[in-house]
Amino acid sequence: MRVLFVTSEAYPLVKTGGLGDVAGALPPALAALGDDVRVLLPAYPAVLAGAEDQREIADLGDPFGAGAARLLAARMPGSGQPLLLVDCPALFRRDGGPYLDAQGDDWPDNHLRFGLLCWAGAVLSHRMSPLDWRPDVVHCQDWQAGLVAAYLHDWGQPRPPVVQTIHNIAYQGRFPAGVLPSLRLPWSMYAIDGLEFYGDVSFLKAGIFYADHITTVSPTYAREIQGAPHGAGLEGLLAARAADLVGILNGADYGVWSPEHDPHLAQPYRPGDAAGKAANKRALQADTGLDIAPEAPLLVVVSRLTWHKGMDLVPAVLPAMLEAGAQLAVLGSGETGLEGAFRAAAAADPRQVFVHTGYSEALAHRLQAGGDILLMPSRFEPCGLTQLYAYRYGTVPLVHRTGGLADTVVDTGYDTLAAGTATGFVCERTEAADLQWCVERALALYRRPEQWRRIQAAGAALDFGWPPAAAAYRALFHSLSG
Ligand code: ADP
Repeated sequence: MRVLFVTSEAYPLVKTGGLGDVAGALPPALAALGDDVRVLLPAYPAVLAGAEDQREIADLGDPFGAGAARLLAARMPGSGQPLLLVDCPALFRRDGGPYLDAQGDDWPDNHLRFGLLCWAGAVLSHRMSPLDWRPDVVHCQDWQAGLVAAYLHDWGQPRPPVVQTIHNIAYQGRFPAGVLPSLRLPWSMYAIDGLEFYGDVSFLKAGIFYADHITTVSPTYAREIQGAPHGAGLEGLLAARAADLVGILNGADYGVWSPEHDPHLAQPYRPGDAAGKAANKRALQADTGLDIAPEAPLLVVVSRLTWHKGMDLVPAVLPAMLEAGAQLAVLGSGETGLEGAFRAAAAADPRQVFVHTGYSEALAHRLQAGGDILLMPSRFEPCGLTQLYAYRYGTVPLVHRTGGLADTVVDTGYDTLAAGTATGFVCERTEAADLQWCVERALALYRRPEQWRRIQAAGAALDFGWPPAAAAYRALFHSLSG
C-alpha cells in the first residue's frame, strides 16, 4: 500500500509539538508493517539543512502566482524515511517558525503557504502527477493539510481515498473568504456543505467535510469533539460524520524517549532504577539552581504555556506547593502573560522555582528524567504525549480527566493502588482548588516511598509504542482503498 503522508512538521527536522513527534514516528512504523510511505513536507530552511540525499524530481510551477515551486525527494536523518519536499523559496525560506514569524505573529500568507502544500499533495495523488509513484491513500494532518481533500473533490475522479487526522481542533486554519480565488478553488465550494465556516474559509472544515474518513488521536477526544465546547464550532459536522470518525491513540517513540539510551541525560538509567533517576534529579536541581534536595518533590512542566493547557492554574496553586516543600521546574513558551507569571515566580523564589521560556529538546528530556511529577492540567488534550514519555522515566503524571489523558492515566485511589493499576493522579475539574487537592494527594503519596514505587512501576510497565496505532491506521487505509 502506497501512502502519501501530508504534514507541516516532522521530528527531527521541524517540530513545534505533538504533531511533529507523530509525523516523525508514524510513517516509519507504517513502513515497518510493509507500507510504502512518503512524507510530504514544506522545505523550510531547517528541512533543507537537515534532510539527506536531496534531489529535484519535478517542477511544480507557480500555481498561485506566489512563487515558483519544485519538488525534491530526500530522506529523514535517522529513520531514512522517504520525504517529498515542496520547495517554494518565496513562501518557505524565511527565518522564524513554521507558522509564526519571529515576533510570534501568524505569517500573513499562511493560506498560500499551506494551500501550496495541499495543492502539491493533491497533484501527486491525481492523474496529472508528474511522478510515477501514485498513492493508494492520502493521509492529511491537521488544518495545514485540510485542502488536499477539497482539491481532489474539485478535480473529480479518479482519486485515492483521503483520511483527515485532527491532532488539535482548536487550530482550524481560518481565513477571510476573499482568499478563495487565490487558492484556485471555486466559489461553488464556499457553502455550509463545503469549506465555509461562519463567513470565512476553514482549511480544517474542508478536510473534515471532503475527506473519506476522519481520525483523531484518542478515543475520548473523538467523542468529545462531537459536542460543545470541545468541537470548537465543528461539533455538528463531526456528529453528522460520526460513522466515519475514529479515535486512534497516538504512540510514544521509545527510540527517542527511553531513559536507558537518552543522549540528553546526565546519566542514562533503566526504567525502575531509582538510583539512576535520583542522579538525574540531582543533576537537574544543580543545573537549574534549585536547592539540591533529594527528598523535595520536584514537579515539572513541559508544555506550551496556554490557557488550553491549564497553565493559568499552575501559578494559582504554586504557593501551596511551595509551602508543602515542593519544587517546580517549567519548560515552555506561549502566552505572554503566563510566561511572565512563571518568570516572576522563579525570580521570587529561585531555589524552589525554575522556568525556561523557550524551546529546548535537551531540557525536555532532562525534566522528564529528573522530575517526580509531570503536571498536565489541560482543559482539553487530544492525546498528549508527554504523559506517555513520563511513564518510561519514572515520572508520575498529574492530569485533568480529558481527551487522551482520560484514556492513558489511571487515578490513584485505594482500589487502584491495591490492584497495582494506579499510574498517576487525575483531577476532575479544571479549577485551582481541584488541582491543589490533586497535588496534595500526590505529595502525600510521594512521602510513602513504597506506594510511590508501585505507581511508578505500573506506569513504566505500560507499552504505548507505535505498532498498535500503526496497525490500526493500516487497517483503516486497507478498508478504504478496497
Ligand atoms: P501539543 O502537541 O499540544 O503541544 P503534546 O503533549 O502532544 O502537546 O506534545 C508535546 C511535544 O512537544 C512533546 O514532545 C514535548 O516534549 C514537546 N515540547 C513542548 N514544549 C516544549 C518546549 N518548550 N521545548 C521542547 N519541547 C517541548
